Amino acid sequence: MEHVIALDVGGTGMKAALVGPDGALLYETRRATGRERGADAVVAAVLDLAVELRAQGEARFGAPAAALGAAVPGIVDAERGIAVYSANLNWAHVPLRDLLSERLGGTPVALGHDVRTGGLAEGRIGAGRGADRFLFVALGTGIAGAIGIDGTIEPGAHGSAGEIGHVVVRPDGPACDCGQRGCLERLASAAAVSRAWAAACGEPDADAAGCAKAVAAGDPRASEVWQQAVDALADGLVGALTLLDPGTLIIGGGLAEAGDLLFAPLRAAVERRVTFQSVPEIVPAALGDTAGCQGAGLLAWDLLAARRQGAARPDPTADTIRAPGVAPHDRAAPDAPAVPRGSAAPAPHDPTEVTADGRTK
Ligand SMILES: [Zn+2]
Repeated sequence: MEHVIALDVGGTGMKAALVGPDGALLYETRRATGRERGADAVVAAVLDLAVELRAQGEARFGAPAAALGAAVPGIVDAERGIAVYSANLNWAHVPLRDLLSERLGGTPVALGHDVRTGGLAEGRIGAGRGADRFLFVALGTGIAGAIGIDGTIEPGAHGSAGEIGHVVVRPDGPACDCGQRGCLERLASAAAVSRAWAAACGEPDADAAGCAKAVAAGDPRASEVWQQAVDALADGLVGALTLLDPGTLIIGGGLAEAGDLLFAPLRAAVERRVTFQSVPEIVPAALGDTAGCQGAGLLAWDLLAARRQGAARPDPTADTIRAPGVAPHDRAAPDAPAVPRGSAAPAPHDPTEVTADGRTK
């Protein structure tokens, strides 16, 4: 049976799977990343895990995997296959695509950014299934996003599109590691909520899950911490949806596990802020912590499909690069009934054009 290898390398754990053509996870395993042993040891562990999965596939299905997809954290140059930097894994400029391909005897390898790869899976086979334009936002230790267009993720000109966690929402807010102040992830990540709740309740070990419980129990201090995070998140998300106009907004990561405790006030906060923008469907992620691994499988299958199309698309990353202005017009016609032409024409700063229901005429 033809299959691919999917690897999701995280700060503490690695997930690996053999993935069938329909996206089914045929075999799954997990390992500790072992980052305390240093970057070289992490790279060696990734390569060993790939070799192990290749042997598993060969034993189970009679032939080795046809390709491998790998999702890694930090800054990733997917086009060149380089893990550029990860503070978590303490690695820099690791040519991981070539290293993996060499260890697997020339097997084609695709490398992707962890959140963008997870977003690819959520958009194509998870919560956004069927959505042609979506935004995936993961609320974890940090905040990152993935911009989905027609079943692919927009990488940006320099490979860093979707970094919504470093959009400034409180200019005088707390300092961020990136050098700015008041970045969204300093105010609305699971880590930020944990910090704010620990300070509010006076227990250093208090965390975001504890804050959610206290909110549900009616603790006013917790409710204030929670609402401040929701408001910051809504400010960041409204900026993103103003720019991108996604049809579906998928929220994942640890904080999204709070369910309606997060989604009900978040939808309300977004609706309070929009004027002319269309509010997308705001839904929780569906794939949980296997999104990165499933996305890595999709990267591998996409790479194979691109190669098999041969000369038509010689560059495996070409399907994520569009000629500016071409695709939106191609897609305008089917969307036209839902979004009347000219509906966004009045500038948002012109309040006279805003009707009572919050939309422009
Ligand atoms: Zn920042």
